[in-house]
Amino acid sequence: MRVLILGIGDAFTRSHFNTSALIQAPQGYVLLDCPALIHRVLRESTGRAGWDVQLDDIQDIIITHLHGDHCGGLEAFGFWQAHVRQCDGTCARPRIHTSRASAERMWERLAPAMDRAGTAKPLATLHDYFDMHILEPGAKAEVLGLTVQCRCTRHPIPTIGLLISDGRTTLGWSGDTPFEQEHIEWLSQADVIVHESGSAPAHTPIEQLNALPKALRAKIRLVHLPDDFDDSQTALRPLREGEVLAL
Ligand SMILES: [Zn+2]
Repeated sequence: MRVLILGIGDAFTRSHFNTSALIQAPQGYVLLDCPALIHRVLRESTGRAGWDVQLDDIQDIIITHLHGDHCGGLEAFGFWQAHVRQCDGTCARPRIHTSRASAERMWERLAPAMDRAGTAKPLATLHDYFDMHILEPGAKAEVLGLTVQCRCTRHPIPTIGLLISDGRTTLGWSGDTPFEQEHIEWLSQADVIVHESGSAPAHTPIEQLNALPKALRAKIRLVHLPDDFDDSQTALRPLREGEVLAL
């Protein structure tokens, strides 16, 4: 499994893309969150890494939660796949893998832009654009040869962290979360943990990650950082956009 970091910024970044990644799985590519400007995000970060991956190559998206910096690109992704991509109607709909709570509210978020209410056509539904797959806490899902497990965090809206394994190695992805001991212990099963950092109460102050045991800190790389993040305040290393984690 290889993990290309597409963005490391927080919701308010002016210098980066929002936190997201593209996973090269055994059977294809999996997008991990889908921020705004997804077409540009993909082009620039894959270009930096030397990966030749187009939006057409991506059929699977894991969504951690419905804040715009994590799902704001779904409209452009869905429209591209449904209306722009040249596939003569034979393309499968992209698959979204997310929590039940996020799946239940997703169309509420997308419908005002995507339901075709202003046309003579029948109203579109979420399922005209996406094939929905539910990630249940405590269960294992299979996504393109990866085993995906989720855990709910204490972010202000339903949000999941992830353990993603190819059978040899495991990636831990915190999702947006305040610091929570049980969450970091769950993530510690992974070989590499990509953890967010930001201001409480919705996010994890860097001081709390600095206080973790050394062996755990050695696994952690940082994302979802404010533009003025001072990396001299921690020995933990921020990820870079275009960086590839080879697990
Ligand atoms: Zn969030």
